[in-house]
Amino acid sequence: VLKKFDPVLGMEVHVELGTATKMFCGCPTAFGAEPNTQVCPVCLSLPGALPVVNAAAVESAIRIGLALNCSITPWGRFARKNYFYPDQPKNYQISQYDEPIATEGYLDVVLDDGSTFRVEIERAHMEEDTGKSTHVGGATGRIEGASHSLLDYNRAGVPLVEIVTKPITGTGERAPEVARAYVTALRDLLKSLDVSDVRMDQGSLRCDANVSLMEKTATEFGTRTETKNVNSLKSVEIAVRYEMRRQAAVLESGGEVVQETRHFQESDGTTSKGRKKETAEDYRYFPEPDLAPVAPDAAWIEELRGTLPELPWLRRARIQADWGVSDEEMRDLVNSGALELVAATVDAGAPAQSARSWWVSYLAQKANIAGVELTELAITPAQVAAVVALVSDGKVNNNGARQIVDGVLAGEGEPADVMAARGLVVEKDDTKLQAAVDEALAANPGVADKIRSGKVQAAGAIVGAVMKATRGQADAARVKELVLAACS
Ligand code: ADP
Ligand code: MG
Ligand code: ZN
Repeated sequence: VLKKFDPVLGMEVHVELGTATKMFCGCPTAFGAEPNTQVCPVCLSLPGALPVVNAAAVESAIRIGLALNCSITPWGRFARKNYFYPDQPKNYQISQYDEPIATEGYLDVVLDDGSTFRVEIERAHMEEDTGKSTHVGGATGRIEGASHSLLDYNRAGVPLVEIVTKPITGTGERAPEVARAYVTALRDLLKSLDVSDVRMDQGSLRCDANVSLMEKTATEFGTRTETKNVNSLKSVEIAVRYEMRRQAAVLESGGEVVQETRHFQESDGTTSKGRKKETAEDYRYFPEPDLAPVAPDAAWIEELRGTLPELPWLRRARIQADWGVSDEEMRDLVNSGALELVAATVDAGAPAQSARSWWVSYLAQKANIAGVELTELAITPAQVAAVVALVSDGKVNNNGARQIVDGVLAGEGEPADVMAARGLVVEKDDTKLQAAVDEALAANPGVADKIRSGKVQAAGAIVGAVMKATRGQADAARVKELVLAACS
């Protein structure tokens, strides 16, 4: 596609933090409430109301910055970004401008072929979300052609962190893939930090893709467009690819790319013209006078650094090595949603091999039959680990173990209770076993003779008979010993 040009990318990701309350007031942030029920004088900016910074949001922002290998600013003010739009009741947005909480980091992203690509992070800053407009009466759900608009301010003031990359160069044709891989890695990272539910479909992770082309011989970047409304990982890739092709066509026909925002259409994977881009000066940024600066001390930052989880892709690689599973088995574990369940079962004390085998075979079958996800089964990783322990302690055999799992799934209680209630404990009492063996030998004189004449394999039939007589509860290894002893 691109013989003459090299693409340059810039990704802006907004993540809605999962704090209980908004950025500068105590209103709840829960998604999906009745419109305009989660508002107060502060987030509606009524006269005299004053904002207060949400410490939990600052904590999340710092953890995000640290996870992205950024420096955390020891002292920074919020800024007012001034503009009118109906979804913004203040007529300005409280954001951060020249003193963002986190700067100069990077994120290493794994591409489809397994290679690593480093994306440089310019900044991560805190700001508040806007409300939500719903345009009614038009065909597109956008303001063009709509008869009127509805406004819901529940989202106004919800804490956001915006993460902005430096211009991403050197991707060549792979720019769309890099864009998708970056947003995927960022989403996984934010999820592992537990700072957001990162639902692109619900807008808690939103992505704008900046794209420009430069001639291979050029030394300066070309003019960029900023595509908004990219609501899935797949769409990130499609939008970047579309915009690269569109700009290439414009440039090749002698035209010029216009600096503008563009709107991604999920339906056909194209982008359409939005508004012409304002520049920073137009927003008349100035330091927010109603808020104290955020000045995290070094000790707090180090304490937060201590809470960072293992990076998801490093954790995955470590788990794969620890468990000794192949790439393909690992992919199956991830795709089936079993990975975290197996990991939790291992954490609860089960060997990886048994933990994995329960979840990917017997329990996967059960989930399949019930038409539910593995996580929805009425058994916990700790209970699975308890069953594994009962087997390895020799209290039940595999058959009994499956019955215990059935019992737990049926709501009969904890594994040990099910084992007792269903009478599944392995029979180890030698007197009882001896009696059962004698009975089986007496009932099968021909087999007994064979064993006596030295055909030890024939013992299997007697063991089988004993197992049947004890409803599968005999200790099979012990039974075999008793059979051989009786026939020697
Ligand atoms: P804006 O406020 O206009 O959205 P930002 O600085 O927040 O600007 O984000 C612009 C994004 O685009 C950044 O990720 C930046 O690295 C990237 N970028 C800057 N110049 C170009 C360019 N010529 N082509 C592609 N991306 C660019
Ligand atoms: Mg921006
Ligand atoms: Zn409020």
